[in-house]
Amino acid sequence: MKNLRSIDHVFVPPPAHMVGDGFRVHNFFPGNSLMSLNRMSPFFLMDYGAKVEYTPTDTPRGVGVHPHRGFETVTISYHGKFAHHDSAGNSGVIGEGDVQWMTAASGILHKEYHEKEWSRSGGLMQMVQLWVNLPAQFKMSHPKYQAIAQKDFGIFDLPNNQGHIEIIAGNFKGVIGPAFSFTPIEMYNIKLKKSVNLNITFPANYNTGFLVIEGTVIINETEIPSDNFVLFSNDGTDIQIEALENTIILTLSGEPINEAIFPYGPFVMNTKQEILQAYEDFNNGKFGVLLD
Ligand code: MN
Repeated sequence: MKNLRSIDHVFVPPPAHMVGDGFRVHNFFPGNSLMSLNRMSPFFLMDYGAKVEYTPTDTPRGVGVHPHRGFETVTISYHGKFAHHDSAGNSGVIGEGDVQWMTAASGILHKEYHEKEWSRSGGLMQMVQLWVNLPAQFKMSHPKYQAIAQKDFGIFDLPNNQGHIEIIAGNFKGVIGPAFSFTPIEMYNIKLKKSVNLNITFPANYNTGFLVIEGTVIINETEIPSDNFVLFSNDGTDIQIEALENTIILTLSGEPINEAIFPYGPFVMNTKQEILQAYEDFNNGKFGVLLD
């Protein structure tokens, strides 16, 4: 390890808020005074639903019809089952371990709910929603939907039963993740057994952050408890991980999109004019139709 990447900041989860009535989330970014809007580009937003129990209900909780334009929403289930419908005609259910990668791009309406049968029994939920920004040239491309089951992830097995790495997007030592992304992104679940050490490398210019989903880890000699987010500086390539317990780490690293950014509400565009256009198009029904 010759070129260690230092830790910029370790964030404890900020106070939770509800998205609709179904997603109790901690927003790590944006809206964090220690991070600029582009600090984790291409990742624009990270909402983390830390573990919470939902009581049984016949009326699935969630968030009703709303628009998006200019980016992608990536939803990762660690516990719980989610249903999605959008005005591009795509729908799907993701269960524990699965990922839903929705490209809003030129604009969709969608709704996001707990899956019906899961709602009836209730249970433990833990999830992440990321907003992945798109470069200007792809912001108005066609909407797209990828349902990615855990069984389709790339798997890199560590020797001697030390754990494994699930590759959702990108390429870890030749193992390719199934998700299509418009810009270079590495997105993994690193799953390590207690006491295992792992060194991992990303290009220094890639913005990189780890969300500790399970267990306590030591990263570059700093102890990080579960539910914390580690933002790395762009001063090196190598990260040293030691698992103090059985551990799951959501690993995000991506090539920054070096463009102006103008987010507003459910839209992420490059200019204020494009935001005004998004509202005009939305109000004129150009995002299609989706019933509640
Ligand atoms: Mn949404």
